[in-house]
Amino acid sequence: MTETVYTFGGSSKATDARAKDKTIVGGKGANLAEMAEIGLPVPPGFTLTTEECLRYLDQGGEFPESLRHDVTSALGHIEETVGKRLGDKEDPLLVSVRSGAAISMPGMMDTVLNLGLNDETVEGLAAIAGDDRFAWDSYRRFIQMYSDVVLGVDHGLFEEALEIAKEDNGFYNDTEMSAEDWRVLVGEYKRIVEEEQDAPFPQDVTEQLWGAIRAVFDSWDSERAKIYRRLNDIPHDMGTAVNVQAMVFGNMGDTSATGVAFTRDPSTGERAYYGEWLVNAQGEDVVAGIRTPQYLTKDARERAGAKPLSMEEAMPDAYGELARVFDLLEKHYRDMQDIEFTVERGKLFLLQTRNGKRTAKAALKMAVEMVGEGLIDETTAIRRIDPMALDQLLHPTLDPNAKRDVMTAGLPASPGAASGKIALDADTAEQWAARGESVILVRVETSPEDIHGMHAAQGILTARGGMTSHAAVVARGMGRPCVSGASQVSIDREGRTLRIGSRDLAEGDIITVDGSNGQVMGGEVATIEPELDGDFGVIMEWADRHRRMRVRTNAETPDDCRRARQFGAEGIGLCRTEHMFFDAGRISAVRQMILAEDERGRREALGKLLPEQRSDFREIFEVMVGLPCTIRFLDPPLHEFLPHKDEEFADLAEATGTSVANLRRRAQELHEFNPMLGHRGCRLGITYPEIYEMQARAVFEAACDVAEASGEAPVPEIMIPLVATRRELALLRELVERIAEEVFEARGRRIEYLVGTMIELPRAALMAGEIAREARFFSFGTNDLTQTTLGVSRDDAGGFLATYVDKGIFPRDPFVSLDIDGVGQLVELAAERGRETREDIKLGICGEHGGDPASIAFCEATGLDYVSASPYRVPIARLAAAQAALNQGEVREG
Ligand code: ADP
Ligand code: MG
Ligand code: MG
Repeated sequence: MTETVYTFGGSSKATDARAKDKTIVGGKGANLAEMAEIGLPVPPGFTLTTEECLRYLDQGGEFPESLRHDVTSALGHIEETVGKRLGDKEDPLLVSVRSGAAISMPGMMDTVLNLGLNDETVEGLAAIAGDDRFAWDSYRRFIQMYSDVVLGVDHGLFEEALEIAKEDNGFYNDTEMSAEDWRVLVGEYKRIVEEEQDAPFPQDVTEQLWGAIRAVFDSWDSERAKIYRRLNDIPHDMGTAVNVQAMVFGNMGDTSATGVAFTRDPSTGERAYYGEWLVNAQGEDVVAGIRTPQYLTKDARERAGAKPLSMEEAMPDAYGELARVFDLLEKHYRDMQDIEFTVERGKLFLLQTRNGKRTAKAALKMAVEMVGEGLIDETTAIRRIDPMALDQLLHPTLDPNAKRDVMTAGLPASPGAASGKIALDADTAEQWAARGESVILVRVETSPEDIHGMHAAQGILTARGGMTSHAAVVARGMGRPCVSGASQVSIDREGRTLRIGSRDLAEGDIITVDGSNGQVMGGEVATIEPELDGDFGVIMEWADRHRRMRVRTNAETPDDCRRARQFGAEGIGLCRTEHMFFDAGRISAVRQMILAEDERGRREALGKLLPEQRSDFREIFEVMVGLPCTIRFLDPPLHEFLPHKDEEFADLAEATGTSVANLRRRAQELHEFNPMLGHRGCRLGITYPEIYEMQARAVFEAACDVAEASGEAPVPEIMIPLVATRRELALLRELVERIAEEVFEARGRRIEYLVGTMIELPRAALMAGEIAREARFFSFGTNDLTQTTLGVSRDDAGGFLATYVDKGIFPRDPFVSLDIDGVGQLVELAAERGRETREDIKLGICGEHGGDPASIAFCEATGLDYVSASPYRVPIARLAAAQAALNQGEVREG
């Protein structure tokens, strides 16, 4: 029989493997059970499984009857262990009700603390604790949280009431409130609930408990949880577990405290305990940004020049115990831990541990150092780094020599720098970003409702909140630069203006934030390229050692090629030649070629383009000397090069000596109803062979030039696009070979080269066995292959694709991550048939998918020889290819 509820702590033993299985009891539940098992002080509790959540949601919000029974007996476990009973008037048990899915979703789900308090038990609690203030503070917290999370009463109403109470008393901090002040506020809170709800605050503790469980289950389907899952590719059908746990109290006076800590610095990766804590406080006070938290260690406090004592100084015993736990947990989990703890009257309790989120920089440093410490091995280090996170390190940072107009500084919450227009709310940020503008989201503090705006923004600035505030945690996870707690930022939401330091600004003004040092600057600041040695270099070297596939780049300018080589590209997988045609200095010759009435006219214009194209190739070959370079011949329909505006037509008429009317007629002739499926790709080479002849000549002459100059020849791989039949490729291969022979004859040297094709039409994939008779290589052009297989034009998909992903029709955007089930079949089939014909056929991928880790894993499984990605994605592809090879090795070994 499978259990619906698992207990932990006290005399519980996790004998059932499910009790520590994250998919069943969630990450929080599994780690609480694990910590209790290794003897750490964890308050006892129990966990309702994710299966029960799904069953509950499935049954339209009904609890299965058996669950009621199981919860009652699990509650008995807590009551027995603690020696208190829920609802007992003399000595009440209080519990927290916490959510926890298999994958941690910070801030996505709501927690209720101090459940079990009512008008009677609060008196009992006060008497037993000998502390009225503590009891009433706990009660008002409970009403506030429960009403917000479970009853859906606007939490702003409670905050307002608290502000008024403090103002009336002339207080600044919550800590100044006395027992009597809290008691009065509780009355006010209850009045608010009754007014909002037409029903009094629930006094029945069993009703409270089930209400909270229901709210956690329901929160799985909340909008903000759905958005978070969508942004992070977390499946919707996992459900959340519910943890019910005996309360421990950090708000029992000056020997009590609460905090969050990391076993290493999550921003830099440095091996130093790192965290924040608050004396006489409870749970979310630290993250909520209500009070400014204090530093955990003396060292951190001194470095920041802060006055309030660190925990190390103020509570040396509890801190010593905490440090011992840090080491134990790191050794146990072999990873950096993110820990929540509470000190109740001097005694330490652990409430959570999980593998801590980290910046890419920290991830690299920790991985490298942990290998050095013998904590993990090289392959674990490689697997542990999210390839996409590398993106954070590959982009420019602020130029240290640039002038900075610093207006104020806050906390360096998430590293990296960004400039953009100030947006004062998430919706505005999203709208402006959609228009292609860079925005900096500026908020007093962020909440889960702001996620979409944070995602759209280039950077985030908040006036309140510490290093573990919502803004900081989420920004680090997303890789967005963030400055938090910049107290000199004040925002006028109505007027859409703000003040930063002594400066008055308005929404839309440009600022720069530097999340590495907390600075907030006026205007835009110059940036410099990142450095790629150090830990980054070490991990890349390890990755290279473990990957099988080669990594090339999609690049067509010498600059892009150079950058890609710095990033480790081992050749060019796609050089699109049409970009060279658009160059301002050449477009006129290109147009002349297009408008020519006959072949003679075309050849004349192509004669002008030849030297230009030759010098392009020469520059690229110089950068890529000795490496394979796949050059795709002209692909887009010719009319893309024609002018659109009247004055452009006039200019062109003058330059070519024809009439505007004549030009317009020709443009009309070239018009296509569906250019994607029109006169393009190899169809151009078939109908106007002289164009491909010119390109072939330019390639071979350039290759000879470079070979002569450097002594080392490049390895051109001529790629014919949009082939559907063997005959097309046969004709064009002959053409290329003929030109090659002419050039080699004239130059008196031979260059190794290959002719191959792009597989980007379903027919080509199906006929791959035949086509391979003419092709030395296939490169999967998965952008077009996706378009032609799905019958979806990428440029027109904007209107419906997001809906398709939302509704689960596609698991992800098929233009970002390969549709493995569908398009993937064609790739597999073409690879197989190609190899049957030609054993040593070279196989690669050059669509956008070549830089997407999931697609790269598929390429590894299919046995492709290389992937090709845009320059900035090359390191991502190197790491993803290594991870894919390691996983594939495991699959093979069974
Ligand atoms: P989240 O997933 O948002 O971190 P948690 O369930 O971890 O939510 O709880 C929020 C806060 O409440 C944390 O600071 C946690 O330490 C605290 N907390 C949760 N349960 C208890 C408990 N039983 N006793 C004391 N504090 C608790
Ligand atoms: Mg929370
Ligand atoms: Mg937590």
